[in-house]
Amino acid sequence: MMDRRKFLGVTGAAFVAAPGAPLILKRGAPAIDLPKLPYDRNGLAPVITGTTIDFHYGKHHAGYVRKVNAAIKGTKLEGQSLEAIIRATAGDPKMGKAFNSAAQTWNHTFYWNSMKPKGGGQPDGALARKINASFGDLDGFKKAFVKCATGRFGSGWAWLVEDGDKLSCLSTANAHLPMTQGKKALLTVDVWEHAYYLDYQNARKSYVEAVLDKLINWDFAARNLG
Ligand code: FE
Repeated sequence: MMDRRKFLGVTGAAFVAAPGAPLILKRGAPAIDLPKLPYDRNGLAPVITGTTIDFHYGKHHAGYVRKVNAAIKGTKLEGQSLEAIIRATAGDPKMGKAFNSAAQTWNHTFYWNSMKPKGGGQPDGALARKINASFGDLDGFKKAFVKCATGRFGSGWAWLVEDGDKLSCLSTANAHLPMTQGKKALLTVDVWEHAYYLDYQNARKSYVEAVLDKLINWDFAARNLG
């Protein structure tokens, strides 16, 4: 069954009464939606608990979606895709609110898809070959990724990216993301404190290691390759 938010997001429609005329249906530009989580709120527990999901998805991610819709309302960005909004506002200090909320909306959707219940394990096929060629082996990748995630001062994101023929780890500050640096994201882990504080307090390294070992979605990374 479609919930109210989803319904409003899909239709983007509103009834408008014109004086002396019957009600007409005016179709507005479609809003940016909050995508459904790819698992239920307890699907990642105990590594990431349902309580963290309630706040992180239900409050933070939903809040970014609300803010991006408010920031683009009535501008030429209304009705454009999230990626187009991000590219159009990146690096423009006057568009900081739209960029931050659009990029955070995109980053969080990418993050939820970078994990799955009973994830972790080993990548295979072309992705495994690229990881071995770029990092030596899977342990080499994990060490590089954890270094990226723990080396980020303050809030941000750790990414596995495709950069030409090679894969590399990248950390970005605040809402920043690989697409505006000409790199293709394969996986991400959110290292804002809101992502791990309820479950791990200040132990960012333990959180990132647990995500890599038990939740990371290698199938998603493989689909993003190439
Ligand atoms: Fe977050």
